Amino acid sequence: MKVVKTIAEVREQVKQWRAEGLTVGLVPTMGYLHEGHASLIDASCKDNDRTVVSDFVNPMQFSPSEDLESYPRDLAHDAELAEAHGCDMIFNPEPDEMYHKNFSSFVDMTVLTEELCGISRPIHFRGVCTVVNKLFNIVQPDRAYFGKKDAQQLAVIRHMADDLNMNIEIVGCPIIRENDGLAKSSRNTYLNQDERKAAVILSKSLEAGKSLIRNGITDCGKIITEIKSIIDSEPLARIDYVKIVDAETIQQIETLDKLALCAMAVYIGKTRLIDNFFTEDI
Ligand code: AMP
Repeated sequence: MKVVKTIAEVREQVKQWRAEGLTVGLVPTMGYLHEGHASLIDASCKDNDRTVVSDFVNPMQFSPSEDLESYPRDLAHDAELAEAHGCDMIFNPEPDEMYHKNFSSFVDMTVLTEELCGISRPIHFRGVCTVVNKLFNIVQPDRAYFGKKDAQQLAVIRHMADDLNMNIEIVGCPIIRENDGLAKSSRNTYLNQDERKAAVILSKSLEAGKSLIRNGITDCGKIITEIKSIIDSEPLARIDYVKIVDAETIQQIETLDKLALCAMAVYIGKTRLIDNFFTEDI
């Protein structure tokens, strides 16, 4: 497995693979890889002849008050995990390789990005769409893999690929969790022992929501009230949002009569965690 730092090296390698008639999968990440990322690499290796993992903490998707500087990084660990799962190349550029000093072009999206995380992170999805678009142009993969953990991001990327006629299959992969239910995340490393225990409240409350749905409840207000009351019982938790939206348009709905996404962002201490379920996965 190669670890490369420049766009030119990625292009050269992909060109060789293409000349051999091989298919290419891309797994975009911000590094500090865990089993959630590994599951995307596994899926890509299954579907494609070659797999590229991008490992880049994208400054453009962080606001000045967010955790860009403290975001965990460990390339040696990432290389070991990615190689063990069959990755063929890691692309780990420096920020100025991706954004030269006169950089001034952006990919932006309305509607889908104005709900859920877009409310408390108003510049986030512009950064995500721009970097993913750049990665698509650099790697030109057949398929790209994204986790349902970042459900709004998955919907946004699917929508971008469709709006802008990108000839890339967008594949969504299931959420990988710790044994107690907490969704795996690079940001879980910010949690101290008490916070780590408290963080289980996200998945626990979602399970209660799922159980109401299994029992035939379709009133989104009722489901959200139940989920919020469970989270509020945890003193270390503070709700940013709990919402139920149309899974494709990310617009709020009142009744569960179509494929829906129940999504939340919750602060545990100072750490903002997200979790969700799609009604199709209940
Ligand atoms: P990140 O490095 O956090 O930006 O995540 C890179 C990709 O891995 C995104 O598509 C995430 O949705 C996905 N991912 C992160 N955590 C998980 C998880 N626990 N299960 C499945 N996919 C995940």
